[in-house]
Amino acid sequence: MKVIVVGSSHGGFETVRGILAEHPETEIQWYEKGDFLSFLSCGMQLYLEGVVKDVNAVSYATPEGMRAAGVHVFVEQEIVKIDPAMHKVHVLNHADGSERDEDYDKLVLSVGAVPAVLPVEGHSLKNIYGMRGRDWAIKLKAKTVDPEIKNVVVIGAGYIGIEAAEVFAKAGKHVTVIDVLPRLLNLYLDEEFTEVLTDEMLGHDIYPATGQTVKRFEGKEGKVTSVVTDQGEYPADLVVQAAGIKANTDFLKNVIELDDHGLIKIDKYLQTSEKDIYAVGDATLVPFAPTDQSNRVALATNARRQGRIAAKNLFGAKKPMPSVSGSSALSVFQYHFASTGVKAGTSDKLGIETKSVLVQDTVQPEFVSMEDGNAKVWFKLTYAPSDGRVLGAQILSKRDVTANINVISLAIQQNLKVSDLAYTDFFFQPGFDRPWNIINVAAQKAVSQLE
Ligand code: FAD
Repeated sequence: MKVIVVGSSHGGFETVRGILAEHPETEIQWYEKGDFLSFLSCGMQLYLEGVVKDVNAVSYATPEGMRAAGVHVFVEQEIVKIDPAMHKVHVLNHADGSERDEDYDKLVLSVGAVPAVLPVEGHSLKNIYGMRGRDWAIKLKAKTVDPEIKNVVVIGAGYIGIEAAEVFAKAGKHVTVIDVLPRLLNLYLDEEFTEVLTDEMLGHDIYPATGQTVKRFEGKEGKVTSVVTDQGEYPADLVVQAAGIKANTDFLKNVIELDDHGLIKIDKYLQTSEKDIYAVGDATLVPFAPTDQSNRVALATNARRQGRIAAKNLFGAKKPMPSVSGSSALSVFQYHFASTGVKAGTSDKLGIETKSVLVQDTVQPEFVSMEDGNAKVWFKLTYAPSDGRVLGAQILSKRDVTANINVISLAIQQNLKVSDLAYTDFFFQPGFDRPWNIINVAAQKAVSQLE
């Protein structure tokens, strides 16, 4: 069997790894149109902040290593056309300009996405960057140490935008974050949490310009100088666009079925509208557990799961993609947060009625003082008012207690109710937590609200 895998980031890498593990006899051709195999944007902040020194280290695979494992690796080679009827792809080699056809028995597309470009006046001025992939990583790194860059405007206050803001604030720049939504991290956290984080960011010279729409970029001598919104003008020597992504699927139009946003339509086994063509990663939708519907949740965790499952289904398995809850975590200066499932900022769009309980506590018992390492913690549990089904949760603290959210992710996936979490056995040790875990406390509060 000959399998062609397109795209070398999370989804492509995991597909190749899955095939190697279970069907090592397979002929695998792995294509990446960029000049670097398997760059992982998730590690970009660590590189930009100097924790990881070498940009090439932000990867899980090298061409040499994968070739040694028997994979035919093609870097700087783009799949530009597909002929499903003939089971052929057309390859453009960017290194030498040559073109050729390759046939396949099965094809896996993990073509991902690129940062969306705001279609406003001035968008092609210099110093308007994206934050995704190795090329942008190198360019952004140079700007962190460029003394001419004093004002940075980040467009988009999701987790990528906040990562960018923190990078440049730590590099000593004045940062403005613009978002059309009313709060920073609006889709990840409710107001009780974003209030705390917004104060933390203000304390580090990050200014939120939320609830504003970008109208145009102003420039001088071809370089951006400011961003104009419907409510103000913000000086900018550098703009980082982190307001959404666009799937790399233009070449798939009229080849396989795409939705209105250009995302590849797949069934629960990750097969596209064409037999023998599978798709995974950010260019697809995933089954979303809180709503039992497909949803766009562009995370490496999902691409990885899909890649592993596609690698099985190519060989005849019938393994459906499990539902996910959209769990993610981030540190913002001294704080760590994580969230999963439905939040105030997403419930309306998802058409879901929710109720929540908020618990504010300390991580350890009161006899441990703040000076001795105790810390405040905020935890919110969201559930369905009709039957108490767990729908989401958020946690925030200066102590890293983010892993609690994985419990809620499991609860959502397993259709558990708040009553199932009220007395669940969670460990207690005063060095770590309190006799009643904060999940128990919140669930007990929710149960009493339902009674
Ligand atoms: P992509 O990562 O978009 O990669 C697609 C690859 O395919 C690219 O290398 C592209 O060049 C190549 N390609 C596309 N078309 C072709 C073609 N026709 N021929 C050949 N090659 C092609 N997720 C998390 O879960 N946790 C995190 O902490 C996290 N942090 C992130 C931080 C940042 C800054 C960013 C930008 C994203 C982060 N993500 C995180 C999201 C995560 O990176 C994506 O969900 C994941 O990369 C999606 O993988 P993918 O394989 O679908 O596609």
